[in-house]
Amino acid sequence: MLTTPLTKLLGIRIPAVQGGMQWVGVPRLVAAVSEAGGLGVLTALTQPSPEALRAAIRETRTLTSKPFGVNITLLPSINPPDYEGYARAAVEEGVRIFETAGNNPGALIKYFKSNGCIVLHKCTAIRHAKSAERLGVDVISIDGLECAGHPGEDDIGGLVLMARAAKELKVPFIASGGIADARGFAAALALGAAGVNMGTRFMCTVESPIHQNIKEKIVASTERDTVHIFRTLHNTARVFKNKVAMEVVAIERRPGGAKFEDVKDLVSGARGRKVYELGDPDYGIWSAGIAVGLIDDIPTCKELLERLEKQVAEIIGGLTRVVGASGSCPVSN
Ligand code: NAD
Repeated sequence: MLTTPLTKLLGIRIPAVQGGMQWVGVPRLVAAVSEAGGLGVLTALTQPSPEALRAAIRETRTLTSKPFGVNITLLPSINPPDYEGYARAAVEEGVRIFETAGNNPGALIKYFKSNGCIVLHKCTAIRHAKSAERLGVDVISIDGLECAGHPGEDDIGGLVLMARAAKELKVPFIASGGIADARGFAAALALGAAGVNMGTRFMCTVESPIHQNIKEKIVASTERDTVHIFRTLHNTARVFKNKVAMEVVAIERRPGGAKFEDVKDLVSGARGRKVYELGDPDYGIWSAGIAVGLIDDIPTCKELLERLEKQVAEIIGGLTRVVGASGSCPVSN
């Protein structure tokens, strides 16, 4: 048993969250993670409308009676979404756990807190974590430079970010970015985290909705196979290093730089979605963290979480023996 403030707060067995992932956080995966003892998270913006999100929430409930959450991410978008509509639909459907992320989340956090919800706020900087703490969030999900998707612009790796979070924050935090195996999971707990967030690792599971070719591509990849795009647009995103991503980087490096319009057709999420549907890793942009270098199989969510639970306990037990301590597991409290 890995009992932490996160497992107690959310009523889950294993302190592992499947963070929101565009096109990936759908009912089948979410339910599989929650059934296996972690926290599955539906990605609101993957659904075409708030009404479709209602249907996805109901579908998830037919697959699991365990807790699950909904992610709402506020970032620049080609077609600005109806964030309020998605939030209202989820609250009205009885969802009580939310993962928020992105820019200016104040109004959204206030809305969820005024409805008695638990909010995990994902951010990439201590200063943003402290602002979110002041807004009343329950848990900070702190994203190191290693993460897939949007890591912010500060380029602080997880080791320093987590140690800083442990010093600076009053609410529990979970570690995100670069975690895909028991070593990283145990290290996060040792750094003071109450749990971990994993995205890329859950993309590469049996229940993940992406094409088998892409799962096999992840297994075959190394930690050198991702790249940052949008650096020059101050909306940096870590994505799989494929032909389209390198074309975007080349456009950004042109003398005079690039405007979003110059890369819009290459980077659109609608095109990236086709990667997962067709199984062609070069069709568009797709998010991946450097944890691809740690992933060498395609387990079910149950196999993955049971393995992590067992190995994390072994690592912590081994460390306890090294320091000669007796008594309970250091993460139980
Ligand atoms: P999209 O097609 O609207 O945009 C594709 C990419 O371009 C995204 O990374 C987006 O942030 C970026 N972008 C859009 N307009 C921009 C601008 N004017 N300047 C700079 N960058 C710009 O994205 P989508 O795939 O349909 O996703 C919808 C939203 O969800 C986006 O804001 C995206 O960033 C966000 N997102 C959420 C998650 C999640 O886990 N919830 C993951 C990835 C992306």
